[in-house]
Amino acid sequence: MQPIISIRGLNKRYESGFHALKNVDLDIADGDIFALLGPNGAGKTTLISVICGIVNPSDGEVRVDGHDIISDYRGARERIGLVPQELTTDAFETVWATVSFSRGLFGKPKNPAHIEKVLKDLSLWDKRNDMLMTLSGGMKRRVMIAKALSHEPKILFLDEPTAGVDVELRRSMWEVVRSLREHGVTIILTTHYLEEAEQMADRIGVINAGEIILVEDKNELMSKLGEKRLTLQLE
Ligand code: ATP
Repeated sequence: MQPIISIRGLNKRYESGFHALKNVDLDIADGDIFALLGPNGAGKTTLISVICGIVNPSDGEVRVDGHDIISDYRGARERIGLVPQELTTDAFETVWATVSFSRGLFGKPKNPAHIEKVLKDLSLWDKRNDMLMTLSGGMKRRVMIAKALSHEPKILFLDEPTAGVDVELRRSMWEVVRSLREHGVTIILTTHYLEEAEQMADRIGVINAGEIILVEDKNELMSKLGEKRLTLQLE
């Protein structure tokens, strides 16, 4: 099957001259939860930003569901929902208005039934008339996800969805992500934590200093790490 994300020979050099992504080749399968795992400064946000068309690559090719991110930006963008690391919500806006306004930005016809479904899937329905200012951090994060799903994208990017959240919230975010996959959305998330990648992902890519150093099915990676741990214990 054709991958939903296909990246070939991707390089990103910032104006400062810093080489943030180095010859990245990566395929992500339709319907997968893919975790991009790496330490601070590895290039996770840069890679997401290039795939989403926010940052231009220095060279290489990125195709999103067959659409080239540069020459067919609109085609690619329509397929993408992005939840950035920083929450960007308007304190005075209600949950419903935030999500339906976001759908309008894509020129999509109004579809209250879709907004209702998204809010119910994210357990936000009872809060639909609440102003964002009144919500907890976890609920605000859910609103950001609902906003990103408002235009019915095929792919959802979550940049460090659990950065700075407590253990309980982290677990509830894992549940949200797994339930979204049931609806056929491909999910690409970034994380620092192996445990988080293990809990959520089907496939894990490890990035370090701008290079993808490994891509494996989660179960294979975990059994290899298990053997390694065992060997280390025996030594
Ligand atoms: P974190 O986990 O801390 O968010 P990350 O893996 O997402 O890190 P990036 O934010 O992609 O990493 O940054 C990768 C590298 O590129 C870092 O060394 C960063 O300082 C550098 N970088 C990011 N943005 C720019 C920029 N606009 N100009 C120059 N260098 C940049």
